[in-house]
Amino acid sequence: MLNSFLRTGITGRAVRSELLNVRVVNLHDFGTGNYKQIDDYVFGSGGMLLAAPQLKDALNSVLKPGGGNFVAYPSPQGILLNQEAVESLALQENLIIICGRYEGIDDRFISKYVDLEFSIGDCVLTGGEIPAMALIDAVSRLIPGVVGKNKAVVEDSFYRGMLDNPNYTRPEIWENMNVPEILLTGNQGDILKWRRSEAVKRTLLRRPDLISRASVGDYLTGGIYLSVLKNFLSDDYDFKELENLCSVFGISRPFLIAGDKGLRYELKKTGTNAKIVGSIKKIIDKAGADTLIIKIYASKNVNSLQSLEAKRKCLEHSINGGAILFLFADDENELDKIPGTSAYLFESPQDLSLNNMISIALDRFLGRR
Ligand code: SAM
Repeated sequence: MLNSFLRTGITGRAVRSELLNVRVVNLHDFGTGNYKQIDDYVFGSGGMLLAAPQLKDALNSVLKPGGGNFVAYPSPQGILLNQEAVESLALQENLIIICGRYEGIDDRFISKYVDLEFSIGDCVLTGGEIPAMALIDAVSRLIPGVVGKNKAVVEDSFYRGMLDNPNYTRPEIWENMNVPEILLTGNQGDILKWRRSEAVKRTLLRRPDLISRASVGDYLTGGIYLSVLKNFLSDDYDFKELENLCSVFGISRPFLIAGDKGLRYELKKTGTNAKIVGSIKKIIDKAGADTLIIKIYASKNVNSLQSLEAKRKCLEHSINGGAILFLFADDENELDKIPGTSAYLFESPQDLSLNNMISIALDRFLGRR
């Protein structure tokens, strides 16, 4: 079963080109007695179980001396396999997958030698070989060179934690259904925006549970802006750090809003690269009238959105190309004066510096869990 899988298709090619190295070990080679026994009766019930001593001998035969070994056991009792787990398993030097059979394997072996139990779904299969093949397949796609275009992997479902957009091929009209016109225009920029917005719609509709863990920055196609309402200049505020934070999360130059002309002059003197403006209107003029403003507070007693709800709101807003503006302030009372906005309460038992608050909040919205 495994050997023919390892000769077939994309996995077969990866094995032949030595991008992937898989060794299949037959547990029967480590069986004991005349019948090369590898299993025995389950204590207290009638079923059969793979026995620990034979499993240990088999394991010893594949352990890499000096470490770098990681033992995974496919089991309905494990964590549900997801792309994040696959990505971390793909980084293991010597990944050992133990396929169970019958009632499974002796629990003492699991507790002593298994690093991760993974399940491929809430259903029971007869053996661990199919889950093992599923894992090998998913891991091999992440090895550079295995899938022709790396771009294809990047656009797949779950890569950034979001689902893929719908896809079509010829004929353009089939059973009275047309391929969406935009895909035929050849305009790559518009096509990418369409694909991202369709991916957002799909994920919100089919798997809203994914949103909390997804990295959504690339899907906010209307643009992401960040601004800080400044009404005083503190000596210790680090403008460079603010710029760096923005660039880490893919936001271009931050805006500093200062109503007072003298303060704007002082801010310019700091040499900051941030764009200094007199009012929020200047940012809206650039970002578009249809901009969703998310005010972020680090205080108590505000009517607030949960961060997940706020993240979902940002995605919904971007479906039609609207921009998102994250608005912070060094005096939170100033934020209350901004009308027509959504407030996201940043719960913090301690007072945080403005930049710390910005970095944690941006990670909640744009970072990947
Ligand atoms: N008695 C076990 C239980 O209920 O957890 C089920 C044993 S199952 C019949 C035999 C083997 O198939 C397991 O040891 C495991 O390796 C594999 N297996 C079955 N279902 C699986 C699933 N959903 N995910 C991963 N492996 C599975």
